[in-house]
Amino acid sequence: MIIVMKSGASRADIDRVCGKVEARGLKTHLSEGEDRTVIGVIGHDPFSVKDAFTHDPSVEEVVRITSADTVVRLGNGLTIGGDEVVLMAGPCSVEGGEMLLETARAVRDGGGHILRGGAFKPRTSPYAFQGLGREGLRHLAEARRQTGLPVITEVMTPSEVETVAEVADIVQIGARNMQNFDLLREVGRHPRPVMLKRGLSNTIEEWLLSAEYVLSQGNYNVILCERGIRTFETMTRNTLDIACVPLLEELSHLPVIIDPSHGTGRWSLVGACARAAIAAGADGVMIEVHPRPDEALSDGPQSLTPQNFAALVPQLRRVAAAVGKRLADPVRADTADAAVAG
Ligand code: PEP
Ligand code: MN
Repeated sequence: MIIVMKSGASRADIDRVCGKVEARGLKTHLSEGEDRTVIGVIGHDPFSVKDAFTHDPSVEEVVRITSADTVVRLGNGLTIGGDEVVLMAGPCSVEGGEMLLETARAVRDGGGHILRGGAFKPRTSPYAFQGLGREGLRHLAEARRQTGLPVITEVMTPSEVETVAEVADIVQIGARNMQNFDLLREVGRHPRPVMLKRGLSNTIEEWLLSAEYVLSQGNYNVILCERGIRTFETMTRNTLDIACVPLLEELSHLPVIIDPSHGTGRWSLVGACARAAIAAGADGVMIEVHPRPDEALSDGPQSLTPQNFAALVPQLRRVAAAVGKRLADPVRADTADAAVAG
Protein backbone atom coordinates (compact mmCIF):
# COMPACT_ATOMS: atom_id res chain seq x y z
CA MET A 1 0.00 0.00 0.00
CA ILE A 2 1.20 3.53 -0.61
CA ILE A 3 0.26 6.86 0.95
CA VAL A 4 0.53 9.75 -1.51
CA MET A 5 1.21 13.03 0.32
CA LYS A 6 -0.20 16.30 -0.98
CA SER A 7 2.27 18.48 -2.86
CA GLY A 8 3.60 20.97 -0.37
CA ALA A 9 3.31 18.61 2.61
CA SER A 10 5.99 19.60 5.12
CA ARG A 11 8.68 17.43 6.68
CA ALA A 12 6.69 17.53 9.92
CA ASP A 13 3.58 16.23 8.07
CA ILE A 14 5.59 13.39 6.54
CA ASP A 15 7.12 12.46 9.90
CA ARG A 16 3.71 12.55 11.57
CA VAL A 17 2.15 10.24 8.94
CA CYS A 18 5.10 7.82 9.15
CA GLY A 19 4.84 7.86 12.94
CA LYS A 20 1.15 6.91 12.80
CA VAL A 21 1.93 4.00 10.45
CA GLU A 22 4.85 2.76 12.51
CA ALA A 23 2.85 2.94 15.73
CA ARG A 24 0.71 0.14 14.23
CA GLY A 25 3.69 -2.14 13.80
CA LEU A 26 4.14 -1.45 10.07
CA LYS A 27 7.26 -0.20 8.32
CA THR A 28 7.56 2.81 6.01
CA HIS A 29 9.65 3.54 2.96
CA LEU A 30 9.92 7.09 1.59
CA SER A 31 10.13 8.03 -2.09
CA GLU A 32 10.71 11.76 -2.26
CA GLY A 33 9.85 13.22 -5.65
CA GLU A 34 10.27 16.81 -6.79
CA ASP A 35 6.64 17.60 -6.27
CA ARG A 36 5.42 15.14 -3.67
CA THR A 37 6.41 12.34 -1.34
CA VAL A 38 5.05 8.81 -1.54
CA ILE A 39 5.21 6.65 1.58
CA GLY A 40 5.32 2.90 1.02
CA VAL A 41 3.71 0.88 3.82
CA ILE A 42 5.14 -2.56 4.40
CA GLY A 43 4.08 -5.38 6.72
CA HIS A 44 1.17 -7.64 7.49
CA ASP A 45 -2.18 -6.21 6.41
CA PRO A 46 -0.91 -2.75 5.46
CA PHE A 47 -4.38 -1.72 4.26
CA SER A 48 -5.64 -1.84 7.86
CA VAL A 49 -4.12 1.60 8.34
CA LYS A 50 -6.06 3.30 5.53
CA ASP A 51 -8.87 4.60 7.73
CA ALA A 52 -6.37 6.54 9.85
CA PHE A 53 -5.91 9.06 7.03
CA THR A 54 -9.39 9.82 5.72
CA HIS A 55 -9.34 13.28 7.43
CA ASP A 56 -5.66 14.06 7.19
CA PRO A 57 -5.22 17.38 5.32
CA SER A 58 -1.69 16.50 4.16
CA VAL A 59 -2.62 13.11 2.60
CA GLU A 60 -3.76 13.08 -1.04
CA GLU A 61 -4.76 9.41 -1.23
CA VAL A 62 -4.12 5.94 0.09
CA VAL A 63 -3.71 3.36 -2.67
CA ARG A 64 -3.64 -0.40 -2.47
CA ILE A 65 -0.97 -1.66 -4.88
CA THR A 66 -1.45 -5.14 -6.15
CA SER A 67 1.58 -7.25 -6.81
CA ALA A 68 1.98 -9.36 -9.94
CA ASP A 69 -0.82 -11.85 -10.54
CA THR A 70 -0.48 -15.08 -8.64
CA VAL A 71 -0.12 -18.05 -10.96
CA VAL A 72 -0.64 -21.40 -9.25
CA ARG A 73 1.32 -24.20 -10.90
CA LEU A 74 0.37 -27.84 -10.34
CA GLY A 75 2.70 -30.83 -10.44
CA ASN A 76 1.76 -31.67 -14.05
CA GLY A 77 2.56 -28.13 -15.26
CA LEU A 78 -1.05 -26.90 -15.41
CA THR A 79 -1.30 -23.25 -14.39
CA ILE A 80 -4.19 -21.37 -12.81
CA GLY A 81 -4.21 -17.58 -12.96
CA GLY A 82 -2.19 -17.02 -16.14
CA ASP A 83 -3.41 -17.00 -19.74
CA GLU A 84 -4.91 -20.47 -19.51
CA VAL A 85 -8.50 -21.14 -18.52
CA VAL A 86 -8.95 -24.37 -16.53
CA LEU A 87 -11.98 -26.60 -16.22
CA MET A 88 -12.52 -28.44 -12.94
CA ALA A 89 -15.24 -31.04 -13.18
CA GLY A 90 -16.56 -34.14 -11.47
CA PRO A 91 -19.23 -35.34 -9.11
CA CYS A 92 -20.42 -33.42 -6.08
CA SER A 93 -19.59 -36.45 -3.91
CA VAL A 94 -17.35 -39.41 -4.50
CA GLU A 95 -19.97 -42.16 -4.31
CA GLY A 96 -17.75 -45.13 -5.11
CA GLY A 97 -14.68 -46.20 -7.05
CA GLU A 98 -16.45 -47.25 -10.25
CA MET A 99 -18.62 -44.15 -10.64
CA LEU A 100 -15.66 -41.90 -9.92
CA LEU A 101 -13.50 -43.57 -12.56
CA GLU A 102 -16.33 -43.46 -15.06
CA THR A 103 -16.80 -39.73 -14.39
CA ALA A 104 -13.07 -38.97 -14.35
CA ARG A 105 -12.57 -40.58 -17.77
CA ALA A 106 -15.53 -38.64 -19.15
CA VAL A 107 -14.17 -35.39 -17.68
CA ARG A 108 -10.75 -35.96 -19.23
CA ASP A 109 -12.07 -37.12 -22.59
CA GLY A 110 -14.53 -34.22 -22.64
CA GLY A 111 -11.71 -31.69 -22.17
CA GLY A 112 -11.67 -31.14 -18.39
CA HIS A 113 -8.35 -30.49 -16.64
CA ILE A 114 -8.92 -31.18 -12.95
CA LEU A 115 -11.13 -33.79 -11.28
CA ARG A 116 -13.34 -32.53 -8.49
CA GLY A 117 -15.14 -34.77 -5.98
CA GLY A 118 -16.02 -34.46 -2.31
CA ALA A 119 -14.94 -37.18 0.12
CA PHE A 120 -15.68 -35.14 3.25
CA LYS A 121 -19.03 -33.47 2.60
CA PRO A 122 -20.39 -30.48 4.54
CA ARG A 123 -24.10 -31.36 4.38
CA THR A 124 -26.81 -29.13 5.76
CA SER A 125 -28.65 -32.11 7.24
CA PRO A 126 -26.85 -34.62 9.46
CA TYR A 127 -29.10 -37.31 7.94
CA ALA A 128 -27.95 -36.65 4.35
CA PHE A 129 -25.08 -38.61 2.77
CA GLN A 130 -21.93 -37.39 4.53
CA GLY A 131 -19.38 -38.60 1.98
CA LEU A 132 -17.09 -41.62 2.03
CA GLY A 133 -14.33 -39.87 3.97
CA ARG A 134 -10.97 -41.62 3.74
CA GLU A 135 -12.36 -44.30 1.44
CA GLY A 136 -13.37 -41.47 -0.91
CA LEU A 137 -9.81 -40.14 -0.82
CA ARG A 138 -8.53 -43.56 -1.88
CA HIS A 139 -10.92 -43.55 -4.86
CA LEU A 140 -9.70 -40.07 -5.80
CA ALA A 141 -6.07 -41.20 -5.65
CA GLU A 142 -6.90 -44.15 -7.90
CA ALA A 143 -8.84 -41.99 -10.40
CA ARG A 144 -5.89 -39.62 -10.47
CA ARG A 145 -3.50 -42.47 -11.13
CA GLN A 146 -5.63 -43.96 -13.89
CA THR A 147 -6.52 -40.76 -15.72
CA GLY A 148 -3.64 -38.36 -15.04
CA LEU A 149 -6.10 -35.70 -13.86
CA PRO A 150 -5.00 -33.62 -10.87
CA VAL A 151 -7.55 -33.71 -8.06
CA ILE A 152 -9.32 -31.08 -5.98
CA THR A 153 -11.23 -32.12 -2.87
CA GLU A 154 -12.53 -30.49 0.28
CA VAL A 155 -10.98 -30.55 3.73
CA MET A 156 -13.26 -29.76 6.68
CA THR A 157 -11.08 -30.05 9.77
CA PRO A 158 -7.56 -28.91 10.65
CA SER A 159 -6.59 -32.41 11.78
CA GLU A 160 -7.41 -33.87 8.32
CA VAL A 161 -5.35 -31.36 6.30
CA GLU A 162 -2.29 -33.58 6.06
CA THR A 163 -4.36 -36.63 5.01
CA VAL A 164 -6.35 -34.76 2.38
CA ALA A 165 -3.27 -32.98 1.02
CA GLU A 166 -1.56 -36.33 0.43
CA VAL A 167 -4.11 -37.03 -2.30
CA ALA A 168 -5.24 -33.57 -3.39
CA ASP A 169 -3.35 -31.38 -5.82
CA ILE A 170 -5.55 -28.53 -4.56
CA VAL A 171 -7.32 -28.56 -1.21
CA GLN A 172 -10.73 -26.95 -1.20
CA ILE A 173 -12.14 -24.91 1.65
CA GLY A 174 -15.90 -25.04 1.29
CA ALA A 175 -18.26 -22.09 1.56
CA ARG A 176 -19.37 -23.12 5.05
CA ASN A 177 -15.81 -23.08 6.31
CA MET A 178 -14.71 -19.80 4.77
CA GLN A 179 -14.37 -18.30 8.23
CA ASN A 180 -13.06 -21.38 10.02
CA PHE A 181 -9.91 -19.53 10.96
CA ASP A 182 -8.08 -22.50 12.50
CA LEU A 183 -8.63 -24.44 9.28
CA LEU A 184 -7.43 -21.49 7.19
CA ARG A 185 -4.25 -21.20 9.25
CA GLU A 186 -3.64 -24.93 9.00
CA VAL A 187 -3.87 -25.04 5.17
CA GLY A 188 -1.72 -21.90 5.19
CA ARG A 189 1.05 -23.83 6.90
CA HIS A 190 0.89 -26.58 4.26
CA PRO A 191 2.50 -26.11 0.83
CA ARG A 192 -0.49 -27.53 -1.12
CA PRO A 193 -2.47 -24.97 -3.22
CA VAL A 194 -5.77 -23.96 -1.65
CA MET A 195 -9.07 -23.04 -3.30
CA LEU A 196 -11.12 -20.87 -0.97
CA LYS A 197 -14.84 -20.75 -1.72
CA ARG A 198 -16.82 -17.65 -0.85
CA GLY A 199 -19.10 -18.07 2.16
CA LEU A 200 -22.84 -18.26 1.66
CA SER A 201 -23.41 -14.77 3.04
CA ASN A 202 -19.97 -13.23 3.05
CA THR A 203 -18.84 -9.97 1.52
CA ILE A 204 -15.92 -9.77 -0.85
CA GLU A 205 -13.89 -8.00 1.80
CA GLU A 206 -14.49 -10.80 4.34
CA TRP A 207 -13.55 -13.33 1.67
CA LEU A 208 -10.29 -11.55 0.90
CA LEU A 209 -9.47 -11.34 4.60
CA SER A 210 -10.03 -15.10 4.87
CA ALA A 211 -7.56 -15.53 2.00
CA GLU A 212 -5.14 -13.39 4.02
CA TYR A 213 -5.32 -15.96 6.84
CA VAL A 214 -3.90 -18.54 4.44
CA LEU A 215 -1.36 -16.19 2.86
CA SER A 216 -0.19 -14.93 6.24
CA GLN A 217 1.03 -18.42 7.15
CA GLY A 218 3.26 -18.57 4.09
CA ASN A 219 1.09 -20.41 1.55
CA TYR A 220 0.77 -18.01 -1.40
CA ASN A 221 -0.94 -20.51 -3.72
CA VAL A 222 -4.48 -19.41 -3.05
CA ILE A 223 -7.33 -19.51 -5.58
CA LEU A 224 -10.68 -17.81 -4.94
CA CYS A 225 -13.94 -19.50 -5.97
CA GLU A 226 -17.27 -17.70 -6.23
CA ARG A 227 -20.16 -20.18 -5.79
CA GLY A 228 -23.16 -17.91 -5.40
CA ILE A 229 -24.44 -16.04 -2.39
CA ARG A 230 -27.73 -15.88 -0.48
CA THR A 231 -30.17 -13.25 -1.66
CA PHE A 232 -33.97 -12.89 -1.52
CA GLU A 233 -34.19 -14.84 -4.79
CA THR A 234 -35.42 -18.41 -4.50
CA MET A 235 -35.72 -19.52 -8.13
CA THR A 236 -32.02 -20.29 -8.15
CA ARG A 237 -30.21 -22.04 -5.29
CA ASN A 238 -27.90 -19.04 -4.89
CA THR A 239 -27.28 -15.80 -6.77
CA LEU A 240 -24.09 -16.06 -8.78
CA ASP A 241 -22.06 -12.88 -8.37
CA ILE A 242 -20.33 -12.61 -11.75
CA ALA A 243 -19.40 -8.98 -11.03
CA CYS A 244 -16.94 -10.25 -8.45
CA VAL A 245 -14.67 -11.44 -11.28
CA PRO A 246 -13.72 -8.01 -12.68
CA LEU A 247 -13.88 -6.55 -9.19
CA LEU A 248 -11.39 -9.07 -7.83
CA GLU A 249 -9.22 -8.37 -10.84
CA GLU A 250 -8.97 -4.82 -9.49
CA LEU A 251 -8.65 -5.72 -5.81
CA SER A 252 -6.53 -8.85 -5.72
CA HIS A 253 -3.75 -10.71 -7.47
CA LEU A 254 -5.30 -14.13 -6.76
CA PRO A 255 -6.84 -16.35 -9.49
CA VAL A 256 -10.65 -16.55 -9.58
CA ILE A 257 -12.75 -19.61 -10.41
CA ILE A 258 -16.53 -19.57 -10.83
CA ASP A 259 -18.73 -22.47 -9.73
CA PRO A 260 -21.95 -22.14 -11.74
CA SER A 261 -23.28 -25.46 -10.36
CA HIS A 262 -23.70 -24.35 -6.75
CA GLY A 263 -24.17 -20.81 -8.05
CA THR A 264 -27.44 -21.72 -9.76
CA GLY A 265 -28.53 -25.13 -8.47
CA ARG A 266 -30.02 -25.94 -11.89
CA TRP A 267 -28.11 -27.84 -14.55
CA SER A 268 -29.93 -26.03 -17.37
CA LEU A 269 -28.36 -22.73 -16.26
CA VAL A 270 -24.82 -24.00 -15.78
CA GLY A 271 -23.61 -23.66 -19.38
CA ALA A 272 -24.69 -20.04 -19.81
CA CYS A 273 -23.20 -19.04 -16.46
CA ALA A 274 -19.93 -20.83 -17.25
CA ARG A 275 -19.71 -18.94 -20.55
CA ALA A 276 -20.46 -15.68 -18.74
CA ALA A 277 -17.79 -16.41 -16.13
CA ILE A 278 -15.08 -16.89 -18.72
CA ALA A 279 -16.27 -13.87 -20.69
CA ALA A 280 -15.96 -11.82 -17.47
CA GLY A 281 -12.34 -12.92 -17.10
CA ALA A 282 -12.49 -15.88 -14.71
CA ASP A 283 -9.42 -18.10 -14.63
CA GLY A 284 -11.60 -21.18 -14.80
CA VAL A 285 -14.84 -22.83 -13.81
CA MET A 286 -15.79 -25.69 -11.52
CA ILE A 287 -18.68 -27.79 -12.81
CA GLU A 288 -20.44 -30.76 -11.24
CA VAL A 289 -20.70 -33.72 -13.61
CA HIS A 290 -22.42 -37.02 -12.80
CA PRO A 291 -22.90 -40.00 -15.13
CA ARG A 292 -26.49 -40.42 -13.91
CA PRO A 293 -27.57 -37.17 -12.24
CA ASP A 294 -30.99 -38.52 -11.25
CA GLU A 295 -29.29 -41.15 -9.09
CA ALA A 296 -26.72 -38.82 -7.51
CA LEU A 297 -26.39 -38.93 -3.73
CA SER A 298 -25.95 -35.16 -3.68
CA ASP A 299 -26.60 -32.23 -6.03
CA GLY A 300 -27.97 -34.23 -8.96
CA PRO A 301 -30.28 -31.38 -10.09
CA GLN A 302 -27.28 -29.12 -10.75
CA SER A 303 -25.04 -31.77 -12.30
CA LEU A 304 -24.32 -31.99 -16.02
CA THR A 305 -24.24 -35.34 -17.75
CA PRO A 306 -20.86 -36.19 -19.32
CA GLN A 307 -22.45 -35.53 -22.73
CA ASN A 308 -23.60 -32.05 -21.73
CA PHE A 309 -20.20 -31.28 -20.26
CA ALA A 310 -18.41 -32.41 -23.43
CA ALA A 311 -20.75 -30.27 -25.55
CA LEU A 312 -20.06 -27.21 -23.39
CA VAL A 313 -16.25 -27.36 -23.59
CA PRO A 314 -15.91 -26.16 -27.23
CA GLN A 315 -18.19 -23.23 -26.38
CA LEU A 316 -15.96 -22.32 -23.44
CA ARG A 317 -12.94 -22.57 -25.74
CA ARG A 318 -14.47 -20.02 -28.09
CA VAL A 319 -15.41 -17.66 -25.27
CA ALA A 320 -11.88 -17.87 -23.82
CA ALA A 321 -10.43 -17.00 -27.23
CA ALA A 322 -12.82 -14.07 -27.54
CA VAL A 323 -11.35 -12.51 -24.37
CA GLY A 324 -7.73 -13.17 -25.30
CA LYS A 325 -7.22 -16.36 -23.31
CA ARG A 326 -7.20 -20.02 -24.18
CA LEU A 327 -8.33 -23.23 -22.58
CA ALA A 328 -5.44 -25.14 -21.02
CA ASP A 329 -4.20 -28.05 -23.12
CA PRO A 330 -6.11 -31.28 -22.59
CA VAL A 331 -4.65 -33.75 -20.10
CA ARG A 332 -3.20 -36.52 -22.21
CA ALA A 333 -4.20 -40.08 -21.44
CA ASP A 334 -0.55 -41.16 -21.58
CA THR A 335 0.27 -39.01 -18.54
CA ALA A 336 -1.77 -41.39 -16.36
CA ASP A 337 0.21 -43.36 -13.78
CA ALA A 338 2.99 -40.75 -13.95
CA ALA A 339 0.90 -38.17 -12.11
CA VAL A 340 2.16 -37.60 -8.58
CA ALA A 341 1.02 -34.81 -6.27
CA GLY A 342 3.57 -32.04 -6.93
C1 PEP B 1 -18.53 -28.40 -3.11
O1 PEP B 1 -18.00 -27.75 -4.03
O2 PEP B 1 -18.39 -29.62 -2.99
C2 PEP B 1 -19.35 -27.70 -2.10
C3 PEP B 1 -19.78 -28.32 -1.01
O3 PEP B 1 -19.62 -26.42 -2.41
P1 PEP B 1 -19.88 -25.17 -1.43
O4 PEP B 1 -18.86 -25.27 -0.31
O5 PEP B 1 -19.64 -24.01 -2.34
O6 PEP B 1 -21.29 -25.27 -0.96
MN1 MN C 1 -22.21 -30.10 -4.61
